[in-house]
Amino acid sequence: MTRSYLTHLECTACGETYRADQLLTTCPSCGKVLFARYDLEAAAREMTPEALAGRPWNLWRYREIMPVQDPRYALTLGEGGTPLLPVARLGRLLGYDRLLLKDDGQNPTGSFKARGLCAAVSRAAELGATAVAIPSAGNAAAAMSAYAARAGLDAYVFMPADVPEPMKAECRAYGAHVFLVEGLINDCGRVVRAGAAARGWFDVSTLKEPYRAEGKKTMGLELAEQLGWRLPDAIIYPTGGGTGIVGMWKAFDELERMGLIDSRRPRMIVVQAEGCAPIVRAFERGERHAELWQGAQTVAPGIRVPVAIGDYLILDAVHQSGGTALTVSDEELLEGVRLAATQEGLFVSPEVGAVVAAARALRERGVLGRDDEVVLFATGAGLKHIDLITGEYPVLHPDDPDLLATIDRVVAGATA
Ligand SMILES: *Cc1c(COP(=O)(O)O)cnc(C)c1O
Repeated sequence: MTRSYLTHLECTACGETYRADQLLTTCPSCGKVLFARYDLEAAAREMTPEALAGRPWNLWRYREIMPVQDPRYALTLGEGGTPLLPVARLGRLLGYDRLLLKDDGQNPTGSFKARGLCAAVSRAAELGATAVAIPSAGNAAAAMSAYAARAGLDAYVFMPADVPEPMKAECRAYGAHVFLVEGLINDCGRVVRAGAAARGWFDVSTLKEPYRAEGKKTMGLELAEQLGWRLPDAIIYPTGGGTGIVGMWKAFDELERMGLIDSRRPRMIVVQAEGCAPIVRAFERGERHAELWQGAQTVAPGIRVPVAIGDYLILDAVHQSGGTALTVSDEELLEGVRLAATQEGLFVSPEVGAVVAAARALRERGVLGRDDEVVLFATGAGLKHIDLITGEYPVLHPDDPDLLATIDRVVAGATA
């Protein structure tokens, strides 16, 4: 019988440690990000490649280094185990011989947010929370609402008013209390903090509780396992709050301590939008903390995050890995969406379009080479973003004597 080897929580800034059997958000002493820590030596004896081979492909296959103690609380909707797809046509176009794409849009609720919220809601329920609350650009709220429904917890969702319609509808469908807030995601965060203090909701904001990062960590675990216990040369990641980068970086460290991988690391590459790039700006200035980005604006809601509590953790991973940080324009990222769909049959979200656009720019600037094995992180699916796919659809009259001529004319126009 496998078990979790969770031992305690540790602050990533001041180093203070805490018992893990209590509902904590950030470090009670300094307010920074808490990490879950495990007895990795004991975990390594059980979580062997051979043992893993027989387990189902969901988040809990890595049970020993996941936080839930009692398996009855390990919620699942089939998250994780997403394919690592070769994307050779796209690679040829962008100048790579070994381009891969981790298709996390195939997760429940259509984004990789399912991983983080699966872990966080499971653990919150295990520790006695009865209501969970989240400020969100949409995907995190949908994921939290789904897992809260699964766990039987009340869900409170606070989103900017201009969040895509499908995301509002998803949350409502799952029975969440949905509120639109005038402002951006950081303004939504203020509402959550007020309710958490006065109403006892458990706040599952990005990196403001320790377990969403544990769920996102599984992206790094899966990547290593899918590549036969090694890592690629570079990972390109659309960065908002940064849980994904931070979680993967933590995963690699744990895997090395468990003897499953060596000390080589991929270059961790942050992509943000030109209209909201606090981490890129801090990287360029050589700073470890990122200032709030004023007037954040982009069509990619998941990366419209003006301030990140885990800025120092993101920037440390980028620096330690020899990575970089860059921006792309909305125009470029929409072209990236088009390329993924037309070249590979992958209808991705605009954040993923940013990753494709960044891959192109990094080859053009010579930052990455043709031989580099590069993994594009496809964090979300495109179906929630149909408003970005514009254009008229020709309407046919089946009795039109010139039917085929009409079709030919339309097709000629499209390929001209
Ligand atoms: C939230 C989100 C991101 C940003 O992820 P972080 O791990 O918070 O940086 C990227 N893409 C999509 C589709 C998202 O929903």
